[in-house]
Amino acid sequence: MSKLLKKLFYTYYKDIDAGKLLPRDFKRREIGVMLWDKRGMVRHKGFLEKSELSNFIITNAPRHFYHSASLYKSPWIDNMAHKGYYGCDLVFDIDCDHIDTPCKEKHDLWKCKQCGLEGNGLHPKVCPECNHAVFESKGWLCDTCLEKSKSETKKLVEDFLNYDFGIPLDQLHIIFSGHRGYHVHVLNDAFRQLSSESRRELCDFITGTGISLPQIGLNVGSKMINGFTLDDTGWRERIVKYLLHAVQDIKKGKNSLGFEKILVTCISHNAEVLMERIVNKKRNWTLEKVAMGNWTKIIHQLISEARCEIDVPVTIDTHRLIRAPHSLHGRTGFKVVPLAWDELDDFDPFSDPIVFKGKEVMFSTTQRVKEIRIGEEIYGPFEENTQVKIPLETAVFLACKGVGVLS
Ligand SMILES: [Zn+2]
Ligand SMILES: [Zn+2]
Repeated sequence: MSKLLKKLFYTYYKDIDAGKLLPRDFKRREIGVMLWDKRGMVRHKGFLEKSELSNFIITNAPRHFYHSASLYKSPWIDNMAHKGYYGCDLVFDIDCDHIDTPCKEKHDLWKCKQCGLEGNGLHPKVCPECNHAVFESKGWLCDTCLEKSKSETKKLVEDFLNYDFGIPLDQLHIIFSGHRGYHVHVLNDAFRQLSSESRRELCDFITGTGISLPQIGLNVGSKMINGFTLDDTGWRERIVKYLLHAVQDIKKGKNSLGFEKILVTCISHNAEVLMERIVNKKRNWTLEKVAMGNWTKIIHQLISEARCEIDVPVTIDTHRLIRAPHSLHGRTGFKVVPLAWDELDDFDPFSDPIVFKGKEVMFSTTQRVKEIRIGEEIYGPFEENTQVKIPLETAVFLACKGVGVLS
């Protein structure tokens, strides 16, 4: 099976313009790959010639192709301490695998490794059938998951990196990961010298970690609450903006921020007063018949909606390898696609990154397959051990996902 996929990947790498596969400052980057017939990552590779790197990729047609976010004097040395660290690009990763989307209950599966019992969503603590606690989890993906990844990416780029940190949009390189999310590379060498600790602080700000309301100037007394205005900056301004959005939303009879019922009532009863105060930049947020506890709950809900769900370890670990743009993702067969900011909205992650398009082929499932949209069509669900006739792109996707084989 993997031989066939490797062959397909080879046809892609053989024809691609080698320049596209080269990371910025490629001579200083550690290169790593995962191969089709070996477990684990082959890393600590380094290349001084463009042709050497492209030959390496064409020859191996790797299942996954990564490069370091860091730059080194000698990237090929396998001891991290002796590589000669120069600095590390600031990168962010948004992967819906880490985000709790409601659809996971529908499309993620678990299987007990002891007795084979299967279920939906996240696995239980212990198997209800045999009491063992070792599971195999099978994550799937869908439009809702990928929409969430996209909206978080837009939030990261627009609200945090551009608006708060002042990084120009043309210095923010957005890349579809080829699977469940997006990466954002900051193309500004000034950030390369940030320590892991400083990167963590940036992440804490973006994820809204450890925000203390009194510390950011929200004074909640027993009868009075002194809030923020649109003239404030950072999280203060963000909270007001989200409050304004919540009030407008609830006035229209919606609840897109997911407030519990009592909080919706608190906001809707005071909608006009709140609008007037926000628009006129008044700090008095005291409301009749709204207990301070409920006000605090409203603000915490605003924070949890405004925070951005980045995968923090990717940003703070300066020794990490990241997926190379224009490479292929071995778990989908999709291309890792660089995107300009104005291309992100229209980008369709289940259609635009398809590389291998072709006629219908026979595909044999080796396990139950959840439904998936590839291009314009929805395929599946398919039962275990069945033969189906599907287009090449869908067969490649499912084979890369490991749920069956091209036959
Ligand atoms: Zn079991
Ligand atoms: Zn989903």
